[in-house]
Amino acid sequence: MNNADTVYTIDTVIEKIMEENKKYDLSKIVSAYEFAAKAHSNQVRSSGEPYITHPVAVSYILLELGMDTDTICAGMLHDVVEDTDITLDEIKKRYGQDVAMLVDGVTKLGKIPLFTKEEQQAENVRKILLAMSQDIRVIIIKLADRLHNMRTLQFRPAYKQRATALETMNIYAPIAHRLGIRTIQDEIEDLSFRYLDPFAYSEIEQALKMRADERQAFILNIEKQIAARFVELGNPEPILSGRVKSVYGIYRKAFVNGKSMDEIYDIYAVRIIVDSVVNCYNALGIIHDMYNPIPNRFKDYIATPKANMYQSLHTTVIGSEGTPFEVQIRTVDMNYTAEYGIAAHWKYKEGIKGKDKLENRLAWIRKIIEAQQESDDAEEIVRTIKSDLSPEDTFAFTPKGDIITLPAGATIIDFAYAIHSEVGNKMKGAKVDGKLVSLDYKLQTGEIVEILTHSDPNHGPNRAWLDIAQTNEARSKIRSWFKKERREENIVTGREKLEYEFSRNNIRVPEEELSDFLADDLKRHNCATLDDFYAAIGYGGIQLSKIMQRLKDLYVKRYGPAKAVPAPMLPMRSNTGLIVGGQSNIEIKLSKCCDPLPGEDIIGFITKGHGISVHRRDCRKYIEAMETGTDKDRWVDVVWAEDAKKNDTPIFKANIDIVSHGSLTIIADIASITAEMRIPVTNITSRVLKNGNSNIILTCSIAGTEQLRLLISKIQKLPDVISADRSMK
Ligand code: MN
Repeated sequence: MNNADTVYTIDTVIEKIMEENKKYDLSKIVSAYEFAAKAHSNQVRSSGEPYITHPVAVSYILLELGMDTDTICAGMLHDVVEDTDITLDEIKKRYGQDVAMLVDGVTKLGKIPLFTKEEQQAENVRKILLAMSQDIRVIIIKLADRLHNMRTLQFRPAYKQRATALETMNIYAPIAHRLGIRTIQDEIEDLSFRYLDPFAYSEIEQALKMRADERQAFILNIEKQIAARFVELGNPEPILSGRVKSVYGIYRKAFVNGKSMDEIYDIYAVRIIVDSVVNCYNALGIIHDMYNPIPNRFKDYIATPKANMYQSLHTTVIGSEGTPFEVQIRTVDMNYTAEYGIAAHWKYKEGIKGKDKLENRLAWIRKIIEAQQESDDAEEIVRTIKSDLSPEDTFAFTPKGDIITLPAGATIIDFAYAIHSEVGNKMKGAKVDGKLVSLDYKLQTGEIVEILTHSDPNHGPNRAWLDIAQTNEARSKIRSWFKKERREENIVTGREKLEYEFSRNNIRVPEEELSDFLADDLKRHNCATLDDFYAAIGYGGIQLSKIMQRLKDLYVKRYGPAKAVPAPMLPMRSNTGLIVGGQSNIEIKLSKCCDPLPGEDIIGFITKGHGISVHRRDCRKYIEAMETGTDKDRWVDVVWAEDAKKNDTPIFKANIDIVSHGSLTIIADIASITAEMRIPVTNITSRVLKNGNSNIILTCSIAGTEQLRLLISKIQKLPDVISADRSMK
């Protein structure tokens, strides 16, 4: 499929159809050709050729992919509705519902501009995915269309070349990869690369041309050796095909891994095709016996297929002259899938009857669409698509040689949690190929990762890991650790709430009788211990308002009428809605350094003579004090009174740090949000940053965390805003 200079005519198409031993409706295809030729008769391409050469070339590519009659007809007709007076109805009348639907799909896809703002781009990619999930043939036609346009890109103006190449590289190549259509992916990547980085392209091309004969001889020699050994051992001669890696493939390896061309092992690759999976592993044994394998270069994509269903064994060995080369071993079936991906279903499996694999591929598309529907965050959507479409999954190894499959860009945190949550929770660092790396180190395929763990059984993850981890699996395991970890805090809170309610209702149960007194309630709420019960109250699983009446009745039954006694230690509720360790008569104020809000985790500091000042638990002052151990015993537990969160009087100060593109109206936009939300603004400052963006600090009075979150999210949605976050001085 690399004949950029071939001129395709209807005769080449007919010849090709005759060669295939597949049933085609030749007269329907010829009729579609004649109809399209007439419709485009007064149009020419940028190359000066009649326009019809383009649809014919697209149909030829579809034929090579093994597509069915309707798809080939749609290929002939794919630009007719867009560029001529012919209507979809006419196509439907002549060639049926299916052809009309395919042409319509391609026409609609053509109208989607892919390179606009990120948000818009996400929406457009979503449309492509939807089109794919309705009939995958639409996107296969679009890929063939794009391939031919890329082959003839030299006739377009320079600015068009770059934009088209960029779009092809960023959107179409990843889609071809996802669908496993390797033949198209390789070619459009090489063609795009030629326009995007002409210098690097010609450098690699030149390097490949040098000693091209030698390379050819090298591969042929290897093939001969392998074939001879197979026969010698009594095996049937395998199908062998050697190749030199594509230009862009070499560039990507060199660029991503920072390697020179000499260091890229798989510039040479020999493919061995055998008849069964068992013989794949047999062949591997033979190869490893013939040549020295390079350690850690073996990949078993048969046991662990790639996301696009690619299956093969890969190994890199050193040839007799000391030149390394890659060996790919697979069955005939796997080879079809490797070359043609999803199109193999039409080429070799009579359409889409082989539902299994097709279903798998479509499941991926559905998954992305669903994820998009759940999320309103456009940036997140683009990130998902990009990471899901990114060219390679990463395969890293445990020291024992187990393969861990991770998405590209995954870190050692993801690796650790992929092994086991306990390994992740206890991780203190990792060695990659024997060297210590930082936590945000991005893993590459083939690396051996050794996770170093703490022996301390109470060791846990760090919240900052949530931002570093790339997989949902790791993030959710980290979150669940913190939920469990907060149990201690939940117990304290729950216990305080219960004691408060008891004293408010004059219930005074002696400590040693408490378990017995609450036994029924523990059972009712599935709590094994009193702590479980407190924890459940703490996180809100048990609502005290619902059980207090019964407890009051029970108390009266057991201990007689509740008497109001002056409680010596009434939990104090200050005007800021705080309870401090059950003590009264203490002056409480909110610290100015971190401005805690109701609902946030807080801690109190006993000042000298000014009562207790309350900080957020993530306040730098508290963290420093814990790390250095200074005044350690002056920190006391503080909790918010239950109604503090519902308080709608704006009394808490909050600073919001906003970065935006330089815009005249940004302050007015922010002010209209605060006005609409009835949030008093106490100060707003703005300064211009060196890069022309502006930095705005908004100070306002806030009723609580919910309101603050809403305010920030509204600000973040303003068109010019780059970021908006609560600021911690
Ligand atoms: Mn076209």
